Amino acid sequence: MPELPEVETIVREMREAKLEGTKIIAVEVYWDRSLATPTPREFIKKMVHQHIQKISRRGKFIVMQLTQDTLLVHLRMTGKFLISSTKKPPHPHERVRLYLDDGRLLCYEDQRKFGKWYLLGNTANPLDQLGIEPLSAHFTLKAFQNLLKGSQRPIKPFLLDQHNLVGLGNIYVDEALWQAQIYPKRSVSSLTQKEIHALHRAIPDVLQKGIDNIGTSLGSKRANYFSVSGRRGGNQYQLNVFRRDGLPCPRCQTIILRTVIAQRGTHFCPFCQKI
Ligand SMILES: [Zn+2]
Repeated sequence: MPELPEVETIVREMREAKLEGTKIIAVEVYWDRSLATPTPREFIKKMVHQHIQKISRRGKFIVMQLTQDTLLVHLRMTGKFLISSTKKPPHPHERVRLYLDDGRLLCYEDQRKFGKWYLLGNTANPLDQLGIEPLSAHFTLKAFQNLLKGSQRPIKPFLLDQHNLVGLGNIYVDEALWQAQIYPKRSVSSLTQKEIHALHRAIPDVLQKGIDNIGTSLGSKRANYFSVSGRRGGNQYQLNVFRRDGLPCPRCQTIILRTVIAQRGTHFCPFCQKI
């Protein structure tokens, strides 16, 4: 599933590909339920003739500011964008296609169909529910301490909850907790100030490393993450614990273990991240 570094990479490549400034001249929807709101008919009617003015990211959402409306896309498990400069029949996993005035197509594929598009009108804005951006100036130590205050939850599900912090998913939470040397089932209220400091540093570190490596591609199949330009990420070769169970911890050589926390496969070093 694309997390903050993967979505950020996609947004940057969309900007580099100069999608900003193009005009949408036609829209095709091949799978109605990829649209959270509005109906396909309304969606097509509203989208056509708008310009894509600005592309950005908030949490794991791609945010496209159009002439009149805001379009949000959440890729969930297998959503991805491809730009094509030649007209071609839709791929079997293609769900939505935008025809641009410069002749290019912006194709949205989603094998598992969990991804969602929101063309915002008067409907509730999913961005209003989101927590702090961990790579922004808002993520101060003080803000993080306040966020953690009073919670009895285990730290891993706390960090996955997008109401608290945005952008973290299974991969980057496991990596951040390994870097900060915190066992993922520890309750938030049990964390020491030293551990909170370490985690506050680890979260932006692992995310920035992911962006620098143009994201994490866990497999080579078409459904796995790759960027808009078709590049696979390189961060999977630099992970310290995620999906490395049975291998030695890069810090202490203890064998990494896998457990399940909040229904998520979780990887940790039993020596560095003491239970
Ligand atoms: Zn270790």
